[in-house]
Amino acid sequence: MCIKSEIKEKLLRKDDKINTAVLRRDWFRESELHQKIIDITSFLPNKVPLKERIFCILNDITERPKCQICDDFAVFLPKHNAGYSKTCSKQSCRSFISSDKRLQTNITKYGRKVSPKTIQKASERVSSLNQKGRATLKEKYGVSNPGQMHNHNSKVKKTLMERYGVDNIHSMPSS
Ligand SMILES: [Zn+2]
Repeated sequence: MCIKSEIKEKLLRKDDKINTAVLRRDWFRESELHQKIIDITSFLPNKVPLKERIFCILNDITERPKCQICDDFAVFLPKHNAGYSKTCSKQSCRSFISSDKRLQTNITKYGRKVSPKTIQKASERVSSLNQKGRATLKEKYGVSNPGQMHNHNSKVKKTLMERYGVDNIHSMPSS
């Protein structure tokens, strides 16, 4: 039996959630399955919960996920099946991801109600990214500012063009 089916059969409940009571049982802790789970996920540090190891196995993750902004490791979220966060636990990395996401969400949700001030604010948040984040961007994408990334840039441009008929925040009419 493959390890995934073994996990599903022995450790998951009918709703696919991990049966945490089983994880605490002696028979399980001494079982071959327990050892296999640890061995297969030996890329994770010793202290991580078994839940995280099981998530990695079921999702074919073979190396410890990293933060998308810096080089630290991504946070494993305790919520069922949420998996890994996009970032590490640092506030600077978290706000970088969420400012971009919030900007996009507001545009979809509120359309014209997004004020130039809101866009300006989000842009300022993005530019307050810490030095380490910038170094990572430089290394990974050859840019020192997220605004220089092609994808980011064209998305923002497109939105500004649609809403305000200009392609950068500096040409926007003041409200
Ligand atoms: Zn980070």
